[in-house]
Amino acid sequence: MPRPFPLSADELTHLADEYPTPFYLYDESGIRQTCRELAQAFHWVDGFRNFFAVKALPNPHILKIVHAEGMGADCSSRAELVLAEKSGLRGEEIMFTSNNTPLAEYRAARDLGAVLNLDDITHIDFVQKTIGLPELVSFRYNPGPARTGNVIIGRPEEAKYGFTEEQLFEGYRQLRKLGVRRFALHTMVASNELDGNFFVETARMLFDLVVRIHQDCGVRMEFVNLGGGIGIPYRPEDRPVDLSVLSENIRRLYDEMIRPAGLDPLRIVMENGRMVTGPHGFLVTRCLHHKHIYRDYVGVDACMAHLMRPGMYGAYHHITVPAREQEPHDRTVDVVGSLCENNDKFAIQRSLPNIERGDLLVIHDAGAHGHAMGFQYNGKLRCAELLLQPDGSVRQIRRAETLDDLFATLDMTEL
Ligand SMILES: *Cc1c(COP(=O)(O)O)cnc(C)c1O
Repeated sequence: MPRPFPLSADELTHLADEYPTPFYLYDESGIRQTCRELAQAFHWVDGFRNFFAVKALPNPHILKIVHAEGMGADCSSRAELVLAEKSGLRGEEIMFTSNNTPLAEYRAARDLGAVLNLDDITHIDFVQKTIGLPELVSFRYNPGPARTGNVIIGRPEEAKYGFTEEQLFEGYRQLRKLGVRRFALHTMVASNELDGNFFVETARMLFDLVVRIHQDCGVRMEFVNLGGGIGIPYRPEDRPVDLSVLSENIRRLYDEMIRPAGLDPLRIVMENGRMVTGPHGFLVTRCLHHKHIYRDYVGVDACMAHLMRPGMYGAYHHITVPAREQEPHDRTVDVVGSLCENNDKFAIQRSLPNIERGDLLVIHDAGAHGHAMGFQYNGKLRCAELLLQPDGSVRQIRRAETLDDLFATLDMTEL
């Protein structure tokens, strides 16, 4: 069940008088609450930390909030490292999980003292010969045929990420020889996964490796990183993952597998993005036109360039019309943007109330992989991001782009 929009219809009308649509609105209280629920679920793990995946919502004002709630940052590029640093994150609060990594990005991560999570065995040598290996190194594991993935992330066997199992053992032996003293193990095999057991199985897989790597390579793991990918209930019938059940099941495996092997304490960390901010972000858009041909269309002033998920992988996003929620939802429409692409649809054959020109629509669960995936195709400008603060005030944390921003990289003087 998607989260209700945090403002009344009247409050929304006033907000949209002040800030032109479309815009994103993030609910700070909701984000903080989710951060606390996740931390609470893993209270039994000494040093549990979620490294918020910056790519989900790369805004420093949001990073400061999740950092204040105890989260770190999971970065995959130079820009994300800069955002993490500007937001006050330091050293091992930053995880650098990259792939096919340019040297300059490794250097930037090393300069910040971030944890290097290597994606390939050849990068041991690459990093060692260029910037030198840090004291702590993590590897990303790709279980290949040993695990099935899910729709968004695909089959691990076909994924470009990570080490094979054999390479893991070889890699940790190499690290030891090269004088590395602290070790970690990471994997990421699911995305938007609503079955909590999936993460329990991931923990089982990593715990088993931790024990075998200790036996075979004499390497004692400091922490395992279960990755991100906890799903959110985009559809009205979806149920959120029960974090305390998930955590308790992992605790049971820890007691069965890690303690008897004498490998306690082993820290457990994650790098969720979507579940932290996704449900607390809303894309607000206004109805521009109606159209009645073979189907009925509601045209809005946001488009796929502002929220790509529905067009890209047919993702469902709940839509409400706050001023008309009490009216019968007896119209079946496609809700569309103005991009010259036929997959520019926020909803297909959706039951909604009668919508008039000028009505405000709310697209739910847009707080992760929403604005971040925006683009400028068709000359579309990225929209503003607003933060609803706990005291009820609204603060603009990113302005909308202008045509000058769009043309900033063109030389228009010599035409
Ligand atoms: C995208 C990504 C995440 C975050 O995924 P969510 O679905 O937002 O939780 C975490 N780790 C890695 C390596 C990723 O690529």
